[in-house]
Amino acid sequence: SRGLKPSEVSVHAEPLTVFASMVGEKGWRVFMERVERARALMAGRTFWNVNSTARGGGVAEMLPRLLAYARGAGVDARWLVLEGTPDFFRITKRLHHALHGSPGDGSPLGPEERAVYDEVLRDNAEELLALVRPGDVVLLHDPQTAGLAPACAAVGARVVWRCHVGSDTRNAEVTRAWEFLAQGLAAAEVAIFSRATYVPPQCADRAIVIRPSIDVFSVKNQPLTPEVSRSILAHAGLLRNEPGAPEPFFTRVDGLPTRVSRGADIVRLGCAPTPDMPLVVQVSRWDPLKDPAGVQRGFAVLARAMPGLRAELVLAGPAVRSVADDPEAASTLNAVIELWRQQPHWLRQRIHLACLPMRDLEENAAIVNALQRHATVVVQKSLQEGFGLTVTEAMWKSRPVVASAVGGILDQVVDEVNGLLVHDPEDMSEFASAVRRLLCDHVLAERLGTRAHQDVLTAFTGPRHLTDFARLLDRLDL
Ligand code: UDP
Repeated sequence: SRGLKPSEVSVHAEPLTVFASMVGEKGWRVFMERVERARALMAGRTFWNVNSTARGGGVAEMLPRLLAYARGAGVDARWLVLEGTPDFFRITKRLHHALHGSPGDGSPLGPEERAVYDEVLRDNAEELLALVRPGDVVLLHDPQTAGLAPACAAVGARVVWRCHVGSDTRNAEVTRAWEFLAQGLAAAEVAIFSRATYVPPQCADRAIVIRPSIDVFSVKNQPLTPEVSRSILAHAGLLRNEPGAPEPFFTRVDGLPTRVSRGADIVRLGCAPTPDMPLVVQVSRWDPLKDPAGVQRGFAVLARAMPGLRAELVLAGPAVRSVADDPEAASTLNAVIELWRQQPHWLRQRIHLACLPMRDLEENAAIVNALQRHATVVVQKSLQEGFGLTVTEAMWKSRPVVASAVGGILDQVVDEVNGLLVHDPEDMSEFASAVRRLLCDHVLAERLGTRAHQDVLTAFTGPRHLTDFARLLDRLDL
C-alpha cells in the first residue's frame, strides 16, 4: 500500500431561497415539495461525492455549488477528492480521451494499467470505507472513481456513478474504455450520463440522463457591470490599464467584498489589449480536445481575410500545474505557445495567451467571469465535448457564442437561435466566418445573446439540477 487517501473538501450550506424568484410561485412550491421529500429520504444518511480534483474543469466547478445547496436543503452532502499517482492520472487521462473516441497519447490500456488503476483505488478505498456507512449514497464521478464502486457496494452503500464525458459515436477507443471500466461499473446501481447517446451497452439497464448546470449565484456567474469587468481585467493584467481606473473591488452576491490581486502571477504572452478592443475569447483547460491551436488557426484565417477588422483573440486557461488530474496541460500549452511564436508579428500582437492564477479559486472565477462578460464573441472550438460548461457560462452572460457542433454543445446551442454552430470543427473557414458574422452584425449578436440567457435560465440552472438529484433518490428507492 502506498498510503494514498482521499481528502475531504469542506462544503458550506447555501440556502435554497435564492432560487425562489427564479422559478415563480408555482415552480417554487413544486420544488420545495421535492426538496422536502429528498430530505426525508436522506435522513440519517450521508450523500458522498467522490471525484479526482478540487480545482479546474467542469466537475470541480459544479460539485461544491450543488453540494452547498444540498446541505442548504438539509442533506448531509460531503465531498471527497481521491489521491492518485502520476501514473494513475496518465492512465485516467488516457481513459478520458478514449471515452471521447480519441486515442490520446496512444498508450495501452492493458493488464499493467489495470493493476496501477486498481492499486490506487484500493488504497483510497481503505480510508473511504472508514467513513461510508451502510445506507449512505455514494456518487462517484468520472472514470477516475469508477473502480471504487465494488468496495462501496460491499459495505452496503447505495452506489451511483456519474460520467461527465462521452462521445456520440462509437469506435474502438470508446469500446476499449468501457471494457476497462465495466468491472467496476457492474457494482453501481445507477449510471448517470450527460446525454442519452453516451450510454454504453454495459450501463443501458441502469442509465439515466442528468444534464449539468451552472450556479448563477456563484462568483463565476454573478452580475458585474462593464466597468467592474474592465477593472478586474486591467488589474489582473489582461487589459491595458486605463488611467484613473477604479480599484477592482467588487461585491459578491452574498454581500462580501472581494479583491483581485495584482497581475503578477498571470502568465501572459503578448501585450494586453486596450479596453475598447473587441475580443474573441475562449476559456478552457489546456487540452487538445478543446483545440486551442485550432482557435488560433481559425482566428488567423479571419484576420487574413479581413485586414481592417478590429478584433483580438484571448485564449485563457488555468495555470498549468494547478489541475492535479490533467497531466497533459503543460505539453498542450507549450504547443499553443510554439504555434503563437510561428505567427507573423502583426498577428502575434493580436493573439493573447493567458494562464490564469488558480491559487485562489474565487479570484480565478472573478477573472473568468469578467473575461466572459467583456468578450464580444465567446468561442468553444472543441473537437469533443462532454457538455461544455464554458458555453453555458457565456450564454448566461448573454454573449453570442460560436461553438463546435459536438457532444453536449448540441444540447445547448440551437444554431442561429441562441448561438452559432460550426458543423465541421476541422473547417477553419466555417469557424472564421461565424466569428466574423458576430463581430460585424450587432443586431444578430444581440438577438442570439438575449435568447441564450433565457435558454440557460430554463434548462441549465440549479433548481432543474437539484430536482434531477431528488428524482435520483426516488429511483434508488431508499
Ligand atoms: N475554468 C476556469 N478557469 C480556467 C479554465 C476553465 O475556471 O482557467 C472553468 C470554466 O469556467 C468551466 C470549467 O472550468 O466552469 C470547464 O468546464 P467545461 O465543462 O467547459 O470543460 P471540462 O474542463 O470539464 O472539460
